[in-house]
Amino acid sequence: MSLQFQPLVSLKPFNSFGVDVKARLFAEAHSDQDVREALAYAGSHALPLLVIGGGSNLLLTADIDALVLRMATRGIQIVTDDGERVVIEAQAGEPWHPFVLQTLAQGLSGLENLSLIPGTVGAAPMQNIGAYGVEIKDVFAGLTALDRHSGELRDFNLAECSFGYRDSLFKQQPGRWLILRVRFALSRVERLHLEYGPVRQRLSEQGIEQPTASDVSQAICSIRSEKLPDPAVLGNAGSFFKNPLVPAAQVAQLKRQYPDVVAYPQADGQMKLAAGWLIERAGWKGFREGDAGVHKLQALVLVNYGGATGGELLDLAQRIQRDIAERFHVELEMEPNRY
Ligand code: FAD
Ligand code: NAP
Repeated sequence: MSLQFQPLVSLKPFNSFGVDVKARLFAEAHSDQDVREALAYAGSHALPLLVIGGGSNLLLTADIDALVLRMATRGIQIVTDDGERVVIEAQAGEPWHPFVLQTLAQGLSGLENLSLIPGTVGAAPMQNIGAYGVEIKDVFAGLTALDRHSGELRDFNLAECSFGYRDSLFKQQPGRWLILRVRFALSRVERLHLEYGPVRQRLSEQGIEQPTASDVSQAICSIRSEKLPDPAVLGNAGSFFKNPLVPAAQVAQLKRQYPDVVAYPQADGQMKLAAGWLIERAGWKGFREGDAGVHKLQALVLVNYGGATGGELLDLAQRIQRDIAERFHVELEMEPNRY
């Protein structure tokens, strides 16, 4: 079946903020062929093409004068299996969390700390998704992307992706690479990452001293469900700002004025400041103006109480950025992709 193009489609169901803007044209890709057809159509009609997955890392500030292509390709397959190390490949449109659960059900560990992150497999490399001490770069085995400039397929290995903190080559070169499928190196031997305080604590509370990867996944799901708003209930895009990486001397200076400031040392000698702490300390937690606000339980999350526009959310984010810069001399960088 060939690609179905729909004109003037509301993107409200396709972004987790629930912002109501329209796409000039909308289509869903169920195969590589659909992707190529969409690219050809956009090219021949001089239309920009915006690729989306689950829309959980987007801030849409106006109607999208483009062909919006939602990746809906499905399929998961084992590529290699040496009895211990298993490389598994998933198509871009596979929903992330069900994929994680499927790997755990197959006795494969590696993705458990990344449980309950919304979105799709294809978007995961875009910002090298991370949580509770693990990033996809830690289990990454390769991906296949379409070069939108040349129309050619290219395989990327770990080094070629330039993964960083919530960053990658694909984020640095917006609009160039369309990720079709991603491969992960998982293991039948569990090597768990429990260094994030709340994870170990939750497991202990449950009386689990020798956890399995599935136990870790369940503990993380329960922690996240308590702390983070469910986009199906309250619009949000997760953390709205990255945790800023700053020189250790700057943290030492901040500590003199704010002894309880939260910061974590990085391998390169820098410190990662908890942006949520800065925003909360500045008094923004629970702030609401109209339908745009800052979540009551997690100051890093901006929320849409229903009718906020992308512009209103952006305006609130910029006010927070200015305030944090004035108070703490720290620049906050927005995490969601803005269109
Ligand atoms: P989208 O929002 O649809 O797209 C994101 C970007 O990727 C856009 O620029 C889009 O153009 C591009 N893109 C999407 N698919 C493709 C593709 N196949 N090829 C090329 N480009 C593509 N993130 C974390 O890192 N850690 C977390 O713990 C986390 N928790 C979250 C919790 C909540 C409640 C929410 C709402 C978000 C959270 N996020 C987190 C952010 C978000 O879920 C992730 O960044 C996720 O990977 C986005 O996937 P998506 O499919 O929704 O991408
Ligand atoms: P949290 O546990 O309250 O911690 C606050 C911040 O401190 C986190 O952002 C985290 O940085 C950092 N941190 C905490 N413990 C750390 C440790 N032992 N070592 C190094 N850094 C530490 O954070 P939270 O908001 O509840 O989120 C929990 C995890 O889920 C975090 O990893 C967070 O990144 C992830 N998450 C991400 C999003 C998103 O949209 N990007 C949304 C929700 C949750 P890091 O963020 O760098 O880990």
